[in-house]
Amino acid sequence: MKAAPEAQKRLLDLAELDTGLDRLRHRRRSLPELAEIDELSKRLARVSTQIIAAETEAGDLARDQAKAESDVDAVRVRVDRDTKRLDSGQVSSPKDLASLQSEIVSLRRRQSDLEEVVLEIMERREAADAGVATLKSERDEVTGTLRAAEDRRDAAFAEIDKELGELTGGRSAITADVPADVLALYEKMREQSGVGAAMLHGGRCLGCRTSLSIADLNRIRAAAHDEVVRCEECRRILVRTAESGL
Ligand SMILES: [Zn+2]
Repeated sequence: MKAAPEAQKRLLDLAELDTGLDRLRHRRRSLPELAEIDELSKRLARVSTQIIAAETEAGDLARDQAKAESDVDAVRVRVDRDTKRLDSGQVSSPKDLASLQSEIVSLRRRQSDLEEVVLEIMERREAADAGVATLKSERDEVTGTLRAAEDRRDAAFAEIDKELGELTGGRSAITADVPADVLALYEKMREQSGVGAAMLHGGRCLGCRTSLSIADLNRIRAAAHDEVVRCEECRRILVRTAESGL
């Protein structure tokens, strides 16, 4: 495989640029906002479920209260009716009078008991309504925090994507200078080990940090300048420069 020395040196520019691309893509994947958004979304789902349960309970209590109030009304109507009969003077027999009075006393006791029930339900309903309000304000707060985190994520994405776009543009300018078969080898090595080409520097491969053997150095020394050589250790393309120690 052959490529002019200048074209081989472009592989080092490409490797540096690709490292920059990798760093940006990693930053994009591991933004702290992503974990935060995930956590806030779960919290929002939890609070929404709690709101439904709390609203159901408040609704049940509202129905219970209406029922208890209508029970009180029914007893009150009977008390009023009996009191009117008593006051009208139409009941004259002492036995009937005593029975009517006794019924009124008993109905009033019943009314008082039912009114207690209404008060108790009202208290529970107030607590339930307050619970719903608390949960709703928590939901609003979590929603606000979530939206803010999403905005920060989107701003970071936009910034990273802009840099990615710039690097990608610069990449095509570099790859245009490299022969297709050499570029294909570079891409294959990059896929395998993350970095496709490395500089031979002071007798060492800067890709795997291995010092080359005398035999390997002699082999590379003997190779033509446009011959593409590779590290025996990591198989990356080794790019020769003035600092290669040959
Ligand atoms: Zn190597």
